[in-house]
Amino acid sequence: MILKSILIWVLVLVALPVEAVPPTPVAVSREYLMGTFAEVRVYDGDEVGARQAIEAALAEMRALDRLMAVQRSDSDVSRLNREAARGPVRVDPRVVQVLARSVEVSRATAGAFDVTVLPVVRAWGFTDGHPHPPGPGPIPRIAGWRSLRIDADAGTVAFTDAAAQVDLGGIGKGYALDRARDVLRGRGVRSAWLDLGGNIATLGAPPGGGPWRIAVRHPRHDGDRLGVVAMGEASVSTSSDAEQYTMEDGKRRGHIIDPRSGRPADALVSATVVAASATTADALSTAAVVLGQARAREALAHAGADGLLVAPAPDGSLRLHATAGLDFHADNAVVAAMNDTRRPR
Ligand code: ADP
Ligand code: MG
Repeated sequence: MILKSILIWVLVLVALPVEAVPPTPVAVSREYLMGTFAEVRVYDGDEVGARQAIEAALAEMRALDRLMAVQRSDSDVSRLNREAARGPVRVDPRVVQVLARSVEVSRATAGAFDVTVLPVVRAWGFTDGHPHPPGPGPIPRIAGWRSLRIDADAGTVAFTDAAAQVDLGGIGKGYALDRARDVLRGRGVRSAWLDLGGNIATLGAPPGGGPWRIAVRHPRHDGDRLGVVAMGEASVSTSSDAEQYTMEDGKRRGHIIDPRSGRPADALVSATVVAASATTADALSTAAVVLGQARAREALAHAGADGLLVAPAPDGSLRLHATAGLDFHADNAVVAAMNDTRRPR
């Protein structure tokens, strides 16, 4: 696949205004999960069946939250963080699977995605909801994804480095969406929409056909959106410093860590990734913020994914880049202002 840079003013010229009118679901449920809100909407079948399917999907997400949360001392991930440096620890097959996927993404992104950044994430207070600069002193060491030893057949994980601490915050919500979508599919649902903290997974097509339309928020202007992504059955995930951040020396520091520097990444302001797999979309959106525009494009192309990347320009303004395969409909005024080089902000 050849990805070429789409100059946004070209997009602005061709984009038609798209209004995302959400169709009415047969059943919908919303619940606080994984430190955010989960919402599942089913658009086909009878109401009783739709409700049961949604409950089963939410139950799967709850189970994954219990297994993966670093905030719970009894989660499988916390158990790994306490015990795996001493030898193989048996964990739930789903935890083995998501860690194996994490390692694949680490390899594909030259280590930009690395679940062993937890000591730095903790030092900045991002795990307990009170972010703050870590203060003077050495940066906590990141053991690196290569220190994970995963034995899928035995169902065990071990760490070869005593400093290794893992955190699935960059991939777990996507994984949970994939599992929840599978649960719905397994119950015969043919049209559904799942949202976990702004990570979206769709199943089938919306009622009446056509694509799903998903609004992408402006990373700096609350309430504004960049535009709408149109897609079939797919997943979309956005990573940014828009919500989880703290200020340091007047600069915004977000919760995505560059594993090489051990500091908050700032190569992109926001990255939205569309992929078939929600796990892939989630992990690659996190990695993209570390990789920056050019290398993120390569990683997306390699994975067969598309994306909308918001990069900081030297003058402090923002630039929007879309990959060629993305069906993106820009909100003209917002995007034109963003890409107007004559108006530094
Ligand atoms: P959100 O959780 O807000 O949707 P992300 O999917 O981008 O955003 O995940 C950010 C989280 O991922 C951080 O809070 C941290 O737990 C974890 N993380 C931070 N940096 C990395 C990294 N380089 N690789 C993998 N995970 C990371
Ligand atoms: Mg992510």
